[in-house]
Amino acid sequence: MRIQYYLILFIILVGCNAKKNGGKNDVDNEKYKGPIIDMYIHAENENELPPERMAMCIPLSTIVPYHDPSEEFSNAWNKALTNPDCENPIWSPVSYEEYLERVKTQLDKNNVVAAASGTLETLIQYDSIFDDKIIPSLKFRIGRDSLSVNLLESILSDNKIKLLGEVSNQYNGIAPNDSRMYPYYELAEKLDVAVSIHLGSGAPGSAYLFSPDYLAALSNPLLLEDVLKKYPRLRISVNHYGEPFIDEMITMLYHYPQLYINIAGIQWCYPKEYFYEYHLKKLVDAGFGKRILYGSDTFIWPELIEESISIINNAEFLTYEQKADIFYNNAVRYLRLENK
Ligand SMILES: [Zn+2]
Repeated sequence: MRIQYYLILFIILVGCNAKKNGGKNDVDNEKYKGPIIDMYIHAENENELPPERMAMCIPLSTIVPYHDPSEEFSNAWNKALTNPDCENPIWSPVSYEEYLERVKTQLDKNNVVAAASGTLETLIQYDSIFDDKIIPSLKFRIGRDSLSVNLLESILSDNKIKLLGEVSNQYNGIAPNDSRMYPYYELAEKLDVAVSIHLGSGAPGSAYLFSPDYLAALSNPLLLEDVLKKYPRLRISVNHYGEPFIDEMITMLYHYPQLYINIAGIQWCYPKEYFYEYHLKKLVDAGFGKRILYGSDTFIWPELIEESISIINNAEFLTYEQKADIFYNNAVRYLRLENK
């Protein structure tokens, strides 16, 4: 898979404009209209689409507002996805063609280039379909992806993949500082491949659905400390910013200046007012607006791309420049696109 030189050139050219506009315009709440780098969408393969349309109501945290455990949680979950209790649910596509078309529409309409996380097979397919609109990111989970370090090295090198993520070991109850991950961190550091790791919430009731080994306790960003000390040259970002452990994340950002965080869909997981006040505003007020990456965590509902953008754009406390940083400038710096 080739590196997208033209994409990078385009990003740099348009990005300079985005930065200039941001610098001279201090009007709060002005909507950001420049190019966007979405640092986390899922590259779905055909088998991952449910055969029937499924509805997504946001925020996700209230999709099953309460639950009586006399009933299986999976029943309540399926009910919420098939009989949505919200005014404007997003319905999943029923064919792969429809899914791809809707993803393409969202990327084009919103001026988005997206880091797409998937298997090698899906990434090769995505590269042929979406071309420069996609930055390939190889997903990885111990136990699910039986890739030895040597095999991973040849996959990343042969296909010129510069992103490893999402690393989703939390779904298998494996902590970020589990020693089984160390050889992979070492490899990423050696190859200068940037790692994105899931720390934070999965779907509500994950442990009762598809991930019986999921451990919420492993969301704690302090668990990354061993890794950052052992691999100080590792480029790593935390998908979902270890929420809701915001104070722990702030101390990690403070002590480890190379660490980035990715909003990665949490903007549509909680009611907006809570997300703004206790997550995003707090992280920005603490001084870390230059290390927040934007990500939509879009999967079978492609319109989460525009929903996610609009939630960040509607944050009244963010200046235009802060939005430009989150949507674009921080990712350019993190991905080292400026130097290409
Ligand atoms: Zn995740």
